[in-house]
Amino acid sequence: MPFQSSENQSRFWAEREKSLLASYAMHSIDSEGREHPETQHPYRGPFQRDRDRVLHSAAFRRLSGKMQVFTGDMGDYHRTRLTHTHEVASLARTIGRALRLNEDLIEAMALLHDIGHPPFGHCGEDVLDECLKHHGGFSHNQFAIDLVTRLEERYTAYPGLNLTREVLSGQNFRSDKQDAQTQMLEIQVVDAADSIAYDAHDVDDAIKLGLLSWDQLSELALVQRARGVVPLDQTPELHRRQLLVHTLLDLQMEDFLTYSQQILERADGLDSIGVREVQFTLRMSPGFEAEKKELERFLFQNVYRHPRLIDVRQRAATRLQQLFLLLKAYPERLPDRFQRLAAEWGTERAIGVYLAGMTDRFCDDQYVSMVEMGRSQAADWS
Ligand code: MG
Repeated sequence: MPFQSSENQSRFWAEREKSLLASYAMHSIDSEGREHPETQHPYRGPFQRDRDRVLHSAAFRRLSGKMQVFTGDMGDYHRTRLTHTHEVASLARTIGRALRLNEDLIEAMALLHDIGHPPFGHCGEDVLDECLKHHGGFSHNQFAIDLVTRLEERYTAYPGLNLTREVLSGQNFRSDKQDAQTQMLEIQVVDAADSIAYDAHDVDDAIKLGLLSWDQLSELALVQRARGVVPLDQTPELHRRQLLVHTLLDLQMEDFLTYSQQILERADGLDSIGVREVQFTLRMSPGFEAEKKELERFLFQNVYRHPRLIDVRQRAATRLQQLFLLLKAYPERLPDRFQRLAAEWGTERAIGVYLAGMTDRFCDDQYVSMVEMGRSQAADWS
C-alpha cells in the first residue's frame, strides 16, 4: 500500500473506506478538496493530513496554556483546553468507529474544534467581543477559521493550513448552527463528544477543587442513574469521584450510540449527501437529554458561577480590556507581525488577533509588564 502513485493512493483509500465505513459516512473519495489543490500524500489520506496540520500548528500547541474552566493557579489536576481537546477527540473517535463514520475526519475536526479560544476561556471571548463590537466582534469558532485559513504560517505560497473543505465546513457549522440538520454526521459526532466530555470532566474537576459536594450532586437524576449501575455509595471517597466520572461518560456514550444507531437504521443505503438531504440528527434519547440538561443547569449555577470563578473572570476581564486599550493607544507596541497585520485588518482587529492568540500566562505577563509597570510612565490611554 504505502508509497504508491497518487492515482493508486486514491483507489487504496476508496477501497479501504468502502470496506470499513458505512455508505453514509463522509468518504475521502467524495471530498471537495482544498482551496489550493495538492497531490495525494504517499501514505496518508486527506483527512489524516488535516489532522496532522492542526496538531502541528502553533495555535494548537498554545491550547496547553489556555484554561478550560479553571485557571492554572487553582491547581494542576484539572483540564486545560488542550487536555479537553484530546478527551473530545478520543470520545469522538470511539463514537465514529462504532457508527462506522470517518474517524480521520472526526479526529481532524475534534482537534480543531477549540483552537480559536482566546486566553481565559469564555470570559476572554466575551471581553474581546465587547472590545471589537464596532469591528466585527469576536467568536472563538470564527477565530478558528481565521487561524487555519489566514493566520497560521506554514507555506510560502499561501496563508493558512489549506485544510479540506469538509474540515472547514465542520468548523463553520460550529460557528453558525443555523444549518445544524444539514451537516455531516461526523461534525455532529464531534459536537456530541464535546458536550459529553465537558459535562463529565467539569464534575470531576469541580469535586476535586472542592466546589461541589456529594450531597449536592446526589439530587441529580443522572447521578441517581449512575448510582443504579455502580455502587457509588459503597465506594471509598478516594475512588468515588473517578467511578462517578467514568460512569457519567459511559452512560452518555451508551445512550448517544444506542439512540443514534436507531436513527441511522433509516439511513441504510444512503450516501453522505443523501443523509444531509434527509437531515438526520444524531442525538441522545429525549429522556436522557432532559437529565443531561439538568446537570448542565446545575453546573452553570454551582460551578461556572462559583465565587472563586467569578473572581478569576473579573481579573481576566480587566487584564484583557486594559491591554486592548493600551495597545489601541500605542499600536507601535504590537510585535512587528501584528503591526503588519494592522495595516491589512485594521488596528483593532490586529490587537484582537494578538490578544486572542495569547496563553493565560503570557497574557498575565504582558499585563504586568505593559500595563502595571507602564502605569508609572503614565499616559492617559484609558
Ligand atoms: Mg470544546
